[in-house]
Amino acid sequence: MEGQLTGWGRTAPTTARLCAPTTADEAAAALRGAGGRGAVARGLGRSYGDAAQNAGGTVLDMTRLAAVRSLDLAQGLVEVEAGISLDRLMRLLLPFGWFVPVTPGTRHVTVGGAIGADIHGKNHHVSGSFSRHVTRMRLLTADGGTHELLPGEELFDATTGGMGLTGVILDATIRLLPVSTSLMTVDTERAHDLDDLMDRLETTDHRYRYSVAWIDLVARGAATGRAVLTRGEHATADLLSPRQLADPLAFRPRSLPAVPRGIPGGLLRTATVGAFNELWYRKAPRERRGQLQRIGAFFHPLDGVPDWNRVYGRAGFLQYQFVVPYGQEATLRSIVEQLSRHGCPSFLAVLKRFGEGGPGWLSFPMPGWTLALDLPAGVPGLGPLLDRLDEQVLAAGGRVYLAKDSRMRPQTLSGMYPRLAEFRALRQRIDPHGALTSDLARRLAL
Ligand SMILES: Cc1cc2nc3c(=O)[nH]c(=O)nc-3n(C[C@H](O)[C@H](O)[C@H](O)COP(=O)(O)OP(=O)(O)OC[C@H]3O[C@@H](n4cnc5c(N)ncnc54)[C@H](O)[C@@H]3O)c2cc1C
Repeated sequence: MEGQLTGWGRTAPTTARLCAPTTADEAAAALRGAGGRGAVARGLGRSYGDAAQNAGGTVLDMTRLAAVRSLDLAQGLVEVEAGISLDRLMRLLLPFGWFVPVTPGTRHVTVGGAIGADIHGKNHHVSGSFSRHVTRMRLLTADGGTHELLPGEELFDATTGGMGLTGVILDATIRLLPVSTSLMTVDTERAHDLDDLMDRLETTDHRYRYSVAWIDLVARGAATGRAVLTRGEHATADLLSPRQLADPLAFRPRSLPAVPRGIPGGLLRTATVGAFNELWYRKAPRERRGQLQRIGAFFHPLDGVPDWNRVYGRAGFLQYQFVVPYGQEATLRSIVEQLSRHGCPSFLAVLKRFGEGGPGWLSFPMPGWTLALDLPAGVPGLGPLLDRLDEQVLAAGGRVYLAKDSRMRPQTLSGMYPRLAEFRALRQRIDPHGALTSDLARRLAL
């Protein structure tokens, strides 16, 4: 069946042959029969750009390969097929007192997508990225063979963050995190400008497992970079009320009605976003300690509004996420000022500190500051502005995140990922005819 696909940002639709294998053999057959335009795996399509698209080729929807193979409750190890979502894993595991080791800002991603992009969460400074917690995986390569891979092996490390281009992940074993309740204990505070924010994060982040700051990118002048910090930890049972203690591991995330189709573009102007941001900043307490929040509210507030990406109208939106190493704070400051001066209407701009990077060859995180912001694709002058920012990120020794990208130039990319040449050489060796490819791979010559 042919179908049109986009990433979460809903820009650059392309048409591909879609197939949804239900067994590893069907996935291998689809890969073998893909033809000259090749194939790529797709999870829940939560990467923002074109990573899980393949114009004129085949896209393997992996979400029907979603079985739980085994669950070791004593050791906290789960073996799953790669198309299972983190949402389903959480629903299954929380009642047993186990949690996923890393979760992004949405639960609606698959394990395959989490490994393919080597995703990070609010706990990167403590726990690293998702693949650090993968103890083995099975990969289907372009020659139709399957490979059992362990951390430290070349193909394992190239696959973690390899954006689906080394093969199709069939299954994986994940080490889980023990929790005694399904609530979070959360500290919230406001920072009145960027320096204040960075100072607070630098001096106190080590006390928290989870940490993130929302920045008001519309604020200018002395308020540039004002922010709300939200940091937390899994709550222990002694913090719960008697009512909460009746079911301490309950996990029943709530959902609001979906955003309707056909919202006109251009709704998100700087003025409207500015008013929203003002409200959001003022609504946050100056300082509040130990508030109990549900997992959904703390980690995945946007999941409560299905299809919220339609808010950006037909033109869609993009997310710009980069990291600059510690010591390059001047670049971060300058980028925040430039974005703020440009009048970029962004509701969502988050800053966090990364810890050690992982061994993934194209894995994004490195020790440093990472800023992620959603931007309507139609902002005048956005392309040239982001090209200039890419150059500054590169000059500072940083990089842009492939799972969010939809517009970077290939020349910029190769300077950002020092192991890209090795990655290309490995792909050439194990997949000489380019059976695995994607729109992202073609656009950036991965
Ligand atoms: C609201 C929101 C918040 C987010 N927050 C974060 C965040 O905090 N941190 C973060 O790191 N990311 C974040 N993301 C991005 C998201 O975590 C990644 O894009 C993730 O890869 C999406 O998983 P998916 O299953 O939807 O994969 P897709 O988007 O469908 O695919 C992503 C990549 O993985 C590959 N892939 C998918 N399945 C397989 C497989 N079985 N085998 C091999 N390759 C495969 C695809 O080929 C593609 O290259 C966020 C996205 C959204 C929409």
